[in-house]
Amino acid sequence: MGIITIDGPAGSGKSTISKLLAKELGISFLDTGAMYRALTLMAMNAGLDLQDSAKIKELFDKTELKFSSENNKTVVEINGVDCSDLIRSPQVTANVHFIAAAPILRESLVELQRQFAKEQGSIVTEGRDQGSVVFPDAEVKIYLNADVDQRANRRFKELQARGEKCDLQEIKDAIIARDCSDRNREVGSLKKAADAIEIDTSHMSIDEVVRVILEIVRK
Ligand code: C5P
Repeated sequence: MGIITIDGPAGSGKSTISKLLAKELGISFLDTGAMYRALTLMAMNAGLDLQDSAKIKELFDKTELKFSSENNKTVVEINGVDCSDLIRSPQVTANVHFIAAAPILRESLVELQRQFAKEQGSIVTEGRDQGSVVFPDAEVKIYLNADVDQRANRRFKELQARGEKCDLQEIKDAIIARDCSDRNREVGSLKKAADAIEIDTSHMSIDEVVRVILEIVRK
């Protein structure tokens, strides 16, 4: 089957859809956002200056990072400690752009992503740069999009369902800020690969989106 890339902005449905797609196709799933988040958390816990990418790279080289999936959830272990929930905290989300903008850190993570794909053979991988930079020869490239109000609403409902206190306007502002830094950084920025198929998920259910992508894959 090969490599299927799913890129798009925060809240476009990438994670949920990629996991379902991988399950349906019986292949592995790679959540590359979790990698950037894990590195951010590691650097924050170590009290490092988040702009000092050389120091963060040193720490990364000394750290044992493990990614796996369990019951449709990405499990991240840092030196044997499960940090799957911590990497999703608002503090990590607000700081991840420092890591995402650092070329030497991106290089290390891109290497891990390519290694994973090589080991697995076939994967569904989701992120911002998977079709444009990491896997330019992927068999199928999808770019998911949705209008910002829909994306903010989805996040809001997700957090509410988890019993977390949240404010819709704050969520929307954070998404707009993240879109802006993801689109405007110099390396690995969020963009649709020239040969990617764009799907606007604003008014589609999750199942509909999965069905449309499955049709594309099977063609
Ligand atoms: O997808 P998720 O929201 O977990 O990604 C967190 C952040 O990690 C993004 O806002 C982006 O800055 C960064 N990221 C990236 N490249 C990827 C995946 C995520 O720069 N391939």
